[in-house]
Amino acid sequence: MTHDRIRVEQGDITQQRVDAIVNAANSSLLGGGGVDGAIHRAAGPELLEACREIGGCPTGEARITYGYNLAATYVIHTVGPIWAGGDQGEDALLASAYRTSLELARDHEAASVAFPAISTGAYGFPLQRATRIAVDETVAFLEGNELPETVTFVCFDAVTREVYESALRELPD
Ligand code: ADP
Repeated sequence: MTHDRIRVEQGDITQQRVDAIVNAANSSLLGGGGVDGAIHRAAGPELLEACREIGGCPTGEARITYGYNLAATYVIHTVGPIWAGGDQGEDALLASAYRTSLELARDHEAASVAFPAISTGAYGFPLQRATRIAVDETVAFLEGNELPETVTFVCFDAVTREVYESALRELPD
């Protein structure tokens, strides 16, 4: 059952004891505010060095590094779209950010992965619409793949957690 493999938690993603956490990065991969800043602070300066060597990432794609001082073995850096009204391909780019992150997790044999609510902070993507894309892409991926075994959506605040919980409740059995 795919739904048993999806969890929702409220908290700080840097504290997750999982194989891989996903970072909502910007295309430079050189760090920013929000969850990106928190991950770089917790992982230490080696993470920035590893990102510098990668040299950037286009919107809708993902890149992987180690997690350094984090409990997580890996950080998967993905670049979600900046919301620009909804007719600039934002939905497809956000879906692609989730899908390429999950592919990297699978290819590195990560059994457990945690995602933040990509693009819903500074990038302004409407929360409910983003949540539906996050959940739909994850369900579709897990249906077709044994890895990752579990995906946790880590919500920073109660409103985000409630939106995720209700999106999961709406899934067909
Ligand atoms: P983006 O630029 O992709 O919108 P943000 O970091 O601004 O990324 O926001 C994405 C989401 O991450 C928001 O819901 C924000 O509240 C949340 N967030 C911020 N810090 C953390 C954290 N330490 N752990 C989990 N989620 C976080």
